[in-house]
Amino acid sequence: MVESVVARTPVRHHTLCDSLFRYAEFLKFGEVHVKVDEATGLKAIVAIHNLKLGPAIGGCRFVTYATADKAIEDALRLAQMMSFKSAANNLPHGGGKAVLIKPKRMRNHEAYFEKFGEFVEALGGRYITAVDSGTSPTEMDIIARRTKFVTCTTTYGDPSLYTALGVRRGIEAAVKFKLDKDNLDGLHVTIQGAGHVGYFLAEDLTARGARLTMCDVNKVALQHCVDKFGVATCSPEAIYDVKADVFAPCALGAILNLDTINRLNVPIVCGSANNQLAHHNYSTLMHERKILYVPDFIANAGGIIHVAVLYDHGDLRRVEQQVEHIYDNLLGIFEKAAQQDKATNEVAEKLALEKLR
Ligand code: NAD
Repeated sequence: MVESVVARTPVRHHTLCDSLFRYAEFLKFGEVHVKVDEATGLKAIVAIHNLKLGPAIGGCRFVTYATADKAIEDALRLAQMMSFKSAANNLPHGGGKAVLIKPKRMRNHEAYFEKFGEFVEALGGRYITAVDSGTSPTEMDIIARRTKFVTCTTTYGDPSLYTALGVRRGIEAAVKFKLDKDNLDGLHVTIQGAGHVGYFLAEDLTARGARLTMCDVNKVALQHCVDKFGVATCSPEAIYDVKADVFAPCALGAILNLDTINRLNVPIVCGSANNQLAHHNYSTLMHERKILYVPDFIANAGGIIHVAVLYDHGDLRRVEQQVEHIYDNLLGIFEKAAQQDKATNEVAEKLALEKLR
């Protein structure tokens, strides 16, 4: 089902729908649902990429967009990534994403998110919503007044802890495969970002004997890690040049580009940031440079595993078991990639696609 959010502007309407259908076809969608509510100012897009493995699950983003096209593009791109993430991590879910175009002035915060909850409910369970940029468990609690198809309410706890656990298991798998080492004792890891995931990762890695160098544009967050774990620091720009065993990007997407990949002085890259490769083909460049790149949509899946398994089963032990499985899952991908002399990302995406077909 596709409706236009700019139905009264015929010229833009044509452009928007053209690009929407083209992009949706390219990403192999799926469904795109749009809801407009004048009273609350809600302009919401729910993109459901694929339902083959189960109901779609994915975050609800609440940010400003320059144009509606950009919002729709974001929803489609992110929903497709969620399909890959769920399939690659054996979750019984498809990929979905909600994008709420943040209004300049919010009339009534609670009414706005309640209306979005009604929209999610009307989709009948085809899409289960969660926290993303601009939303928090508080908004999820409001949404939960109107729908049962919601996760990440205040009862769930912080998924970042499980994301960090998954990244650590990813690092351990890569260290085993690339350096033939069974533990992290004495290894030097650089972490970009001392936010939620970076902090928990630093805590976990230092407890296992790793030596850390961290950076963050937020000096307070960085100092917190220095005080707590005695990490060394460097400037955000210098992090790519530091000689280490592992580089863990835990801040922003698209940081692996021609310049940074050529500067990297590590044999392994494994972190939590989404879409780390600025271009899809850069995984081949990493492969050529003999840097083991741990596909981000597997390394950072601890958060979605936490949310999905708790939603489906309400069992935290099961969450931990499934996050632990990231280690074996990745070792299988590294071996396959080595046998086929292919980039790890390419192999991981192919495996996920096979499950989605
Ligand atoms: P966060 O916002 O808590 O932390 C990100 C940190 O990166 C902040 O402290 C910020 O100041 C810092 N930063 C921003 N630009 C930087 C730069 N140029 N150099 C160095 N540091 C910079 O976010 P988070 O929850 O810790 O997530 C980190 C990354 O992992 C994000 O890309 C997020 O999308 C991704 N991710 C997070 C989760 C999760 O469970 N939190 C799950 C999957 C993926």
